[in-house]
Amino acid sequence: MAPTSREDKPSSAKRVAVVGAGVSGLAAAYKLKSHGLNVMVFEAEGRAGGKLRSISRDGLIWDEGANTMTESEMEVRCMLDDLGIQEKQQFPISQNKRYIARNGVPVLIPSNPITLIKSNILSAQSKLQIILEPFLWKKSDSAKVSDANANESVGGFFQRHFGKEVVDYLIDPFVAGTSAGDPESLSMRHSFPELWDLEKRFGSVIAGAIKSKLSAKNKKGEEKKGSTEKKRSQRGSFSFLGGMQVLIFCKCGDHKRELWKLKLKSKVLSLAYSHEGSEDWSLSCTSNRDKRSQGLSFDAVIMTAPMCSVKEMKITKGGNPFPLDFLPEISYLPLSVIITTFKKENVKRPLEGFGVLVPSKEQQYGLKTLGTLFSSMMFPDRAPNDLYLYTTFVGGSRNRELAKASTDELKQIVTSDLRQLLGVEGEPTFLNHFFWSKAFPLYGHNYGSVIEGIEKMEKSLPGFFYAGNHKGGLSVGKAIASGCKAADLVISYLENSSDDKLLKEE
Ligand SMILES: Cc1cc2nc3c(=O)[nH]c(=O)nc-3n(C[C@H](O)[C@H](O)[C@H](O)COP(=O)(O)OP(=O)(O)OC[C@H]3O[C@@H](n4cnc5c(N)ncnc54)[C@H](O)[C@@H]3O)c2cc1C
Repeated sequence: MAPTSREDKPSSAKRVAVVGAGVSGLAAAYKLKSHGLNVMVFEAEGRAGGKLRSISRDGLIWDEGANTMTESEMEVRCMLDDLGIQEKQQFPISQNKRYIARNGVPVLIPSNPITLIKSNILSAQSKLQIILEPFLWKKSDSAKVSDANANESVGGFFQRHFGKEVVDYLIDPFVAGTSAGDPESLSMRHSFPELWDLEKRFGSVIAGAIKSKLSAKNKKGEEKKGSTEKKRSQRGSFSFLGGMQVLIFCKCGDHKRELWKLKLKSKVLSLAYSHEGSEDWSLSCTSNRDKRSQGLSFDAVIMTAPMCSVKEMKITKGGNPFPLDFLPEISYLPLSVIITTFKKENVKRPLEGFGVLVPSKEQQYGLKTLGTLFSSMMFPDRAPNDLYLYTTFVGGSRNRELAKASTDELKQIVTSDLRQLLGVEGEPTFLNHFFWSKAFPLYGHNYGSVIEGIEKMEKSLPGFFYAGNHKGGLSVGKAIASGCKAADLVISYLENSSDDKLLKEE
């Protein structure tokens, strides 16, 4: 479906620059263009997609960045509807079957409270602590605790509510698998703001989750629409036929239907704000042809480049330097993604399902990877019938050095872990290694100052808005939502500034 763009809008349409062609930048660009604005997207690399990177080669399809996403955010559901790509959505087979390694072997993660109580994944004491949590945590103590522990780690928070074993065997592998972080380094307030808030409001995390689900259900007038929306947001993770990057191709349009100007290999170097002419912002970037293109002017800017990249940019306001020294250093987590295939006959204990996560504690059994996705089990079209294709992650905050290891070393590590967990025999028939030096920003204990820094930029620089995974969440869905929100802010900013101009003219 074509966007609802006002192609017939006169060329006086306001001009917006979007820096970065990852999902957040493209979501913002899509929304702005749909609103009839003139949009130019600047991307430093020679391809669009950022952390979405799908490869199709020799009958195999794999993702080197994000592998799946969800429809939890309303903005994602709207965008998928608008793009008309539901028929390309690909839902994993048996996605509720997810495993963690326990004592060196994969154990199914219980998918509901009853199976949790029946399973042997946790000791009787931890199970009891989970059952008692709603009774032990009352609203009155929790507000005080939350305020006192504004910098509390993810590990500290979950240990208070559910005990150490839950942190070691459920939280640790989960945060490693979703953010490459570890429970002690991650800030609870920034990593899980919804749960942090539940504690403040209800005391117990379990009771709070149940109560807020019930109250959402009971909201009047939303019943019918709400139930379809709810069904969609509960369908779990999905990808697209051909991999996650299909989302990017759909958003960018094709040669017949270019949705906006996408300038690849155009690294933004400087931005200047001056409230003089009709377009307040001018931008310079590297360019293919003349090495540096200058003087492109815009009415507003949406920045989605990582903050480490923003810090390198030269920004001026009214001709004076606008130093970014108030932005703190962010810690980034490195990650290697290893794709392997094995002949099916050489995998002695294959598992159906999504994948297996490896808790840090399991390093004592010689396991060194963070986890492996059973990519061709989830999506059988990703490999020929006689092969299994796996996607394994190594590094993160658990093992920064290992993330940087050579392909040969990583091949040994991955093969050894898969031998132990799935019974693979011999060498992989295919291997691909992709290294992300800055896979994820760490939402660490000082992350509040990063958010303050972003807010300061937005406040001090009229028409400048920040979006992306450095603000509001790391997932693809959260990055899309953040791009859409920034686009909304730009739209109302431009409308207000036009109104101001009209008033002045009168
Ligand atoms: C290995 C890996 C696996 C992941 N798995 C999942 C998953 O399964 N599910 C999930 O939901 N999330 C996953 N994520 C997280 C998710 O993919 C990202 O958080 C999200 O895609 C980030 O999108 P973004 O637009 O905010 O940033 P990015 O994708 O980083 O885009 C920013 C863009 O800005 C460009 N840029 C930088 N500097 C400049 C400059 N000066 N000028 C112009 N352009 C510039 C960059 O080249 C980049 O293209 C994963 C991430 C990684 C690395």
